[in-house]
Amino acid sequence: MVSKLDLRKLYLGAPGATDEDMEIVKAVREYAEGEIMPHRRDLDGGWHHDEKLALDTFKKIHQGLVEIGVQRASWPTVFGGLDVRGITNDMISQEIARGDTGVATHISIINWAILPAIIARRTDLLKEFGPKICDGRPHSSCMAITEPSGGANTEDPTQHGRTIKTIARLDGSQWVLNGRKIWPSGAGIADITYCTVCTTDPEKGDEGIALIYVPPESKGLSFSRPLEKMGMCWTDINAEIFYDDVRVPKENRVAGAGADALILHDVVGAGRLGTCNFALGAAQACFEIALDFTGNREIAGKPVRTRSLHAGILGIMAQKIESARAYHLAVAEMSRQNKLYGRWGAPFLLSKCSAAKAYACDVAVWVTNKTMELMGSYGYSFDYHVEKYLRDVKILQLWLGGPQRAVLDAARGHYKFEW
Ligand SMILES: Cc1cc2nc3c(=O)[nH]c(=O)nc-3n(C[C@H](O)[C@H](O)[C@H](O)COP(=O)(O)OP(=O)(O)OC[C@H]3O[C@@H](n4cnc5c(N)ncnc54)[C@H](O)[C@@H]3O)c2cc1C
Repeated sequence: MVSKLDLRKLYLGAPGATDEDMEIVKAVREYAEGEIMPHRRDLDGGWHHDEKLALDTFKKIHQGLVEIGVQRASWPTVFGGLDVRGITNDMISQEIARGDTGVATHISIINWAILPAIIARRTDLLKEFGPKICDGRPHSSCMAITEPSGGANTEDPTQHGRTIKTIARLDGSQWVLNGRKIWPSGAGIADITYCTVCTTDPEKGDEGIALIYVPPESKGLSFSRPLEKMGMCWTDINAEIFYDDVRVPKENRVAGAGADALILHDVVGAGRLGTCNFALGAAQACFEIALDFTGNREIAGKPVRTRSLHAGILGIMAQKIESARAYHLAVAEMSRQNKLYGRWGAPFLLSKCSAAKAYACDVAVWVTNKTMELMGSYGYSFDYHVEKYLRDVKILQLWLGGPQRAVLDAARGHYKFEW
């Protein structure tokens, strides 16, 4: 069984985390090892695997994570949360992702969709969402950014919201939303809220961008069936969302003209930084599988991992994972000091969050792929779960604007340019 010290070593000293924090991380590790890892194949054996088995397994695991406090961990005690802070939340996310990347994604998105209300200090909205998220039952939320005409455009600060096609019109005391989204996680199953990125008028640029909370039961809100995809098959549910004259109270707009645009870029920066946790958890899991397998498998009388060619690959895996982890830790720490380093969505931190994401995701794809190579056909089989991690991590590179947008935003932290 892993000790708190082992976990501290894994997280490069876990700077700022108390002994009590490490106890929480240890509990999540134990849950992931006892309840998630043994059921990885039930959770996701590919899209045409047993859907009922996958959904039942997910439900059980989600409930278990709620019971050990993961869903309410970062919420203040006044709402029933555990007030877990800083790096501890990142370690929790990595530990879940080590067990299953899609489960970690689902759990994180619940709070990612609430981030706009937190940034805008909308205590009225937090009082609505917080007690539900902390009520001991499993929940989902949805952060709806991507549209059929493009995800990267919507997230691109140089497009100033001009490509957004979901329109919000003020009618008396209500916003009326019309438009369409595609891919958002939690679409069709979210029971807390749909934070919807739209515009009051694309011609207005940043002033038009609006972030509006749409209650799941709203009239005129409908969904396609879940979209079939390569990985995270039944852990992260994605669908199309249709807004057909959806009416919500005026107060559901997060912060107003101009301020909502800044918050959208914060959401993108924070989302990219959070993605590092999923990538690192999966990379760590595959590294451990590779170490274990190559320690037991012999080639010409010697364990594979003692052959210098293979030892070299394992060494590079460790170097890549640790440098991605250190980079993520450093950027995450800066993002918690916004008086000094600015907002998540401002060019400096957005550049760091984007670069950390691009790097951690490349590392995850490289490590899962190399693990498969080191294991030969065993890596390709279902039994060792490497194929599943490989299927799951590919999307981490692609979402939130894709690898190109991530590196373009990384460059924009160093000099200004538009296209
Ligand atoms: C499992 C999963 C979960 C998801 N979760 C969410 C979610 O929770 N919320 C949500 O809103 N969306 C979500 N998405 C959608 C995802 O974020 C988008 O698909 C992604 O941002 C890319 O958008 P796109 O597919 O429209 O590609 P496009 O925007 O059309 O981009 C296509 C390609 O062009 C590149 N590119 C983009 N801009 C530039 C540029 N300026 N210069 C050069 N190259 C560029 C991109 O990197 C990409 O390679 C999810 C998708 C999946 C599959």
